[in-house]
Amino acid sequence: MSAVCFAMVEELLPDLYRVEIPLPGSPLKALNSYIVKGREQFLIIDTGLNREECLRPMLSALKELEVDLSKTDFFITHFHADHSGLVGTLATDTSKVYLNRPEASSVAFQSSEDFWKGLFAFYHSNGFPEEEIKEVLKGHPGYQYSIRHQVNLTVTEEGDEIEVGDYLFRCIETPGHSPGHTCLYEASKKILLCGDHILFDITPNITCWKQLENSLKQYLTNLEKVYTLDVNLVLPGHRNFWDNHRKRITELQQHHRNRLDEALFALEGGEKTAWEVAPYITWDMDCGSWEEFPSVQKWFAVGETIAHLDYLEADGRARKEMKDHKVLYSLA
Ligand SMILES: [Zn+2]
Repeated sequence: MSAVCFAMVEELLPDLYRVEIPLPGSPLKALNSYIVKGREQFLIIDTGLNREECLRPMLSALKELEVDLSKTDFFITHFHADHSGLVGTLATDTSKVYLNRPEASSVAFQSSEDFWKGLFAFYHSNGFPEEEIKEVLKGHPGYQYSIRHQVNLTVTEEGDEIEVGDYLFRCIETPGHSPGHTCLYEASKKILLCGDHILFDITPNITCWKQLENSLKQYLTNLEKVYTLDVNLVLPGHRNFWDNHRKRITELQQHHRNRLDEALFALEGGEKTAWEVAPYITWDMDCGSWEEFPSVQKWFAVGETIAHLDYLEADGRARKEMKDHKVLYSLA
């Protein structure tokens, strides 16, 4: 492990490096960007936010590793700004930028004012107070630091292969954390680059998506999907990597069962909006009570609560109805 002026660069396997890109102000702390060196070509998997604090350490790491951006392709596990934001700045005319189909088709819309307006109206209908929404804008990474440049995307689908040097990666679609989230699997070396599908020190945020019905159900199904893979090295999008994905998958499944129970318990006291259910759920946050959460963390928590309530509704355990422009959940 060698420290450079800004980024931590670490060779994990021959020609496969992890670069820690800091995410200032985020509880995620840093993004793991992975760089693969081939003979003529390089591949960068996930990039960091579109901001100076990410660009500088990335450029310093690329210099240390002698990566030529004119010979570099990019694979983006999912469009979240901490994974995709910098790609617009780094990609050259000769770069391929791989992104899954559902997200490639909406990436431009995601940074439009119309998209955010629609999202705010949706959260407001789920009880999120108007005055807190203004605070969310100031801290939401997707609003502040997403791709601002036009990027030519190469759309990936299940089973597509990307070869670089001695590595042959296969695309494994794992929607749930995002509508088209995709992992890369290297079968002969038993490596899974899993983006935010599996994290070890924290739990991936599972929120609701217009493009993805019952995102929690899909997420859990796609945990089962990767459980069967033969893996010796699991490389996630944040924090530490590990050798065993199956133990963590079992923990993540239990984690969501607990949250579903907490949501049901909240509804035992009568019908509620997602905003009112959220404080009943156990969140992995350093700050004390629900009231003390920063607005943007409340936003992520309410999104996650909606995903759990929608799961319960689809499962027949909860009911959802619109009353006075508010979405209310109750026990079925
Ligand atoms: Zn993400």
